[in-house]
Amino acid sequence: MPQQDVSTGDPETHVATTVERGSFAIARCSCGWSGPARRSRDKARTDAASHTSAP
Ligand SMILES: [Zn+2]
Repeated sequence: MPQQDVSTGDPETHVATTVERGSFAIARCSCGWSGPARRSRDKARTDAASHTSAP
């Protein structure tokens, strides 16, 4: 089972999670956005955070 972490953005607009694919972590959002594959889950979380905080 892939691990998913729900970050606390605005839940009504964007719900970002990080998904792990092998040794990579990818930020994904309920709006359909997904970030680049990262080797670090922290960086994927940073991608998710910057996405959810973007206008
Ligand atoms: Zn989004």
